[in-house]
Amino acid sequence: MTSEFNLIQQYFQSHPQTREDVVLGIGDDCALLSSPSDQQLAMSTDTLVEGVHYYPNADPHAIGHKALAVSLSDLAAMGATPAWVMLSLTLDQAKEEWIKAFCEGFFALLDQHHMTLIGGNMSSGPSSITTQVTGFLPKGSGMRRSGARPGDHIYVTGYLGDAALALAGLKGQVNLSEQLSIFQKALDYPVPRVKAGLNLRDVAHAAIDISDGLIADLGHILEQSGVGATIKLEHIPLSQAAQHLIASHQLTFEEVIQYALTGGDDYELCFTAPPSIVESLEIDCLCTRIGVIETAESFRLLLKGEAFQGGSRRGFEHFVRSY
Ligand code: ADP
Ligand code: MG
Repeated sequence: MTSEFNLIQQYFQSHPQTREDVVLGIGDDCALLSSPSDQQLAMSTDTLVEGVHYYPNADPHAIGHKALAVSLSDLAAMGATPAWVMLSLTLDQAKEEWIKAFCEGFFALLDQHHMTLIGGNMSSGPSSITTQVTGFLPKGSGMRRSGARPGDHIYVTGYLGDAALALAGLKGQVNLSEQLSIFQKALDYPVPRVKAGLNLRDVAHAAIDISDGLIADLGHILEQSGVGATIKLEHIPLSQAAQHLIASHQLTFEEVIQYALTGGDDYELCFTAPPSIVESLEIDCLCTRIGVIETAESFRLLLKGEAFQGGSRRGFEHFVRSY
């Protein structure tokens, strides 16, 4: 059995690091970092727990990707530029094959964002993975949840609901047959919208990343901003694969839209901005207007002008319901 220190050296410390702001990286009691004086630090952490966030037999390459992606998604939602990450790995057994594949997924995403792994921890125990990321934001900037204003348009990036459909497929709740692998890509390899976040930083009034479902996460913006919203369900972006489920009568529109509204794990951005500003921006992904911020603290879901009955404001909440 390889020791904890050999594993750290072989798999985590050996990855080439090029950032000049890392004065001292992995290997000492603390990392030493220098931060630019005109920037503020944006920090976030997230944990993936085996059996709650991923299946015990899930592909370790995908887990490595997702462990970093979920934290990067928080930086994206703030409009921060990613810089450093710490990684705490608790594993019930230190299988080198697993760690190797995990690292390949983790470092591929890390390199894409010019980040450096600056430290972490390794322990044996019930498996869980915690990443803690730090990014930079010019002083005074940052897309908060509290900035939405009546009249703002509401947008989302990418497509909603595919990850939740994949999970339902894996659990046997819906039969996605040969299409499961298409949906599973959304569940296993979410794309953190870092670049979109940077482009929106000086434009959006409020932003959040959608991890617990659109309704729940937009709900945080509404609560913290003290505003209401109207959402037009026919505008919610559904992937081709999801549209195909409807067209082929495997699921109804109402069923699919429920996944898009309340399913978790999308890791898309939901943001509000003054009308017509977003259309003139260059954003590197699909960006769809789905509704408008209202004054009243009301929340309306409309389908072709009629109130949609199937809506609930509840997304994924820990301790309320689990995978
Ligand atoms: P300490 O006991 O002082 O906390 P450790 O022996 O746990 O230090 O870790 C040694 C070094 O390896 C530290 O710099 C720590 O940040 C780093 N490290 C430990 N685990 C990981 C990991 N999974 N990924 C990256 N760095 C790690
Ligand atoms: Mg330690």
